[in-house]
Amino acid sequence: MKEIGLYIHIPFCKQKCLYCDFNSYVCSDAQVDSYIEALIKEIRMYNNEHQFKYKTIYIGGGTPTFIHYRHIEAIMQELRPYIAENAEISMECNPGTVNSESLRAYRAMGINRLSMGLQAWQPELQKRLGRIHDTVQFMENLQEAVKAGFENISLDLMFALPDQSLEMWLETVENAASLPIKHISCYSLKVEEGTPFYKLYQENKLNLPEDELDREMYHKAVELLEGKGFLQYEISNFALPGYECRHNLIYWLNREYLGVGAGSHSKLDNIRFNNFKSLNTYIEAINNEAYPIEEKISIDKKEDMWETIILTLRLNRGLDIAEFNRRYDEDFEELYKGALQKLTREGLLALDSGKLRLTSLGMDLSNTVFIEFMD
Ligand code: SF4
Repeated sequence: MKEIGLYIHIPFCKQKCLYCDFNSYVCSDAQVDSYIEALIKEIRMYNNEHQFKYKTIYIGGGTPTFIHYRHIEAIMQELRPYIAENAEISMECNPGTVNSESLRAYRAMGINRLSMGLQAWQPELQKRLGRIHDTVQFMENLQEAVKAGFENISLDLMFALPDQSLEMWLETVENAASLPIKHISCYSLKVEEGTPFYKLYQENKLNLPEDELDREMYHKAVELLEGKGFLQYEISNFALPGYECRHNLIYWLNREYLGVGAGSHSKLDNIRFNNFKSLNTYIEAINNEAYPIEEKISIDKKEDMWETIILTLRLNRGLDIAEFNRRYDEDFEELYKGALQKLTREGLLALDSGKLRLTSLGMDLSNTVFIEFMD
């Protein structure tokens, strides 16, 4: 029995946010029905052919809470015999798509962690982003979630937004940290090609903060959150002690996981593979009794080592050199001598008690560090 993480993709949203390039769509009920049917078949195919136990499950999207909770119940029903004891079962949840009834149902079906997308505190910024909710709705849903028995709640926040001042961002972080939650993710806005924001950006109509302000927002948030007991454990993630996201740690430690649903990614037995992104192609493949895999890539040892380095360095606990040497039967310090000397000299990396960590400057310039190990 192999214990792995499972990601389940629900690609539906009530409306598209203006910055979003995720694989998510505004769809009819009939499309949702046929997608969920295919998704359950895909899960069944893996469970029938492999010996997996899921130690973490992450239901993401899209907005999983936008579709009726009976669909999530059907998925959970299929998974139940394959869920490990004490598994972390997270689901993304957008304010404005849940109520007391659905939240109680999610809790009863075994979901024990909610990741709520707040993004910004100020209604004018929520509107600017094209979000479907306001803060009043968010607060109502949060209270309902707590009442329904959700003890482990995470919030997603975004900074470097158009027309967002430092004060607005700090108000968001400060208010978020005072809520009954255990985990906060802070992501800097990336303007992605193909989104309405990209078009505005090209037309010079997106008033984005300068890089300097972006960094100030980040560092002030780290300071503020640590002062409130939310310890930074990854470049963008903060948690009260014991509430780090176990599912995401699987990605950052470069361990094995299966992704099901359109466009999802997996890493198993040194192979990376991804499903068809298009809903129709995905459903069609499954209806033809085939795995809906679009591409498979074998990962050789060198590449796997590089991925472990760049993913694990994102974590504040750093890269455990002895563990790396055991995992790959190599001598890390000998193998990466040049990169280590250069990056520690430049103040981007620090080696302490066998753990290699990004410094605060290294976090700002993480891509420079990662490229150095590639060479
Ligand atoms: S709710 Fe999330 S997935 Fe849906 S459109 Fe907005 S950002 Fe994208």
